[in-house]
Amino acid sequence: MTEANGAAESGPVEDDRMVVAENIHKSFGRLEVLRGIDLEVRRGEVMCVVGPSGSGKSTFLRCVNHLEKINAGRLWVNGHLMGYRQKGAKLYELRESEVAAQRRDIGMVFQRFNLFPHMSVLANVMEAPVQVKREPKPEARQQALELLERVGLAEKAGGYPDQLSGGQQQRVAIARALAMRPSLMLFDEPTSALDPELVGEVLDVMKDLARDGMTMLVVTHEMGFAREVGNSLVFMDEGVVVESGEPREVLSNPQHERTQAFLSKVL
Ligand code: ADP
Ligand code: MG
Repeated sequence: MTEANGAAESGPVEDDRMVVAENIHKSFGRLEVLRGIDLEVRRGEVMCVVGPSGSGKSTFLRCVNHLEKINAGRLWVNGHLMGYRQKGAKLYELRESEVAAQRRDIGMVFQRFNLFPHMSVLANVMEAPVQVKREPKPEARQQALELLERVGLAEKAGGYPDQLSGGQQQRVAIARALAMRPSLMLFDEPTSALDPELVGEVLDVMKDLARDGMTMLVVTHEMGFAREVGNSLVFMDEGVVVESGEPREVLSNPQHERTQAFLSKVL
């Protein structure tokens, strides 16, 4: 790890853990959605998160990305304590701009692609580097073209989102997230909104990313992907991690009754 400045002060130790979640709690009003989530994602690891609808998977990802503020617990991403600066034993809440800076290191891809409809594919991918990072346009354009090439869509650079299939739009959304050069990529059911014949092309791009060493936290119902690409699998239910381990092991030999019940429905 090279970004030593600041990390030692605001993070735990500089080790191979990209995400450390300790006892994460999150409520919406009186509804307690996350009830003490503990997990760790190592650098270069692909962790898949599965579980029934409403179990808190999206909320957890949104907390990792600081789109939701946690009520209790600690969350480190890439050595940084999210939302706080630590000085000695004291914690200071970060200003919004500082939180935004932390969040820039994390890419997120949603079930719905959320591309800017009035912008070309190329402009969608260039937008954040130019607007947020103030990168010069020629460099941002060059990088965007390379990313579109990488997701197999170089020839669509001049097109608009509504001219693309759902699978193509999702691949653009992945390229757009990668344009910020994140250390961590979060995927929230990236293929759930797609027609079945378009799922494969998106999973292929994700596989390619994984092979390239990207650290990924993936909420998915694609058990084949979890088995083949995942280094670890977490089963969540009712706001807690019920069971986790090596994907093949959890899928073929689930220990917990709740995991067994869930898997018997989706496998
Ligand atoms: P999952 O992604 O596993 O399906 P979610 O994290 O989306 O689950 O939701 C978990 C629970 O939290 C659900 O009961 C949902 O209705 C509730 N919830 C999620 N976001 C909000 C919110 N912003 N306000 C109120 N309740 C929410
Ligand atoms: Mg969800």
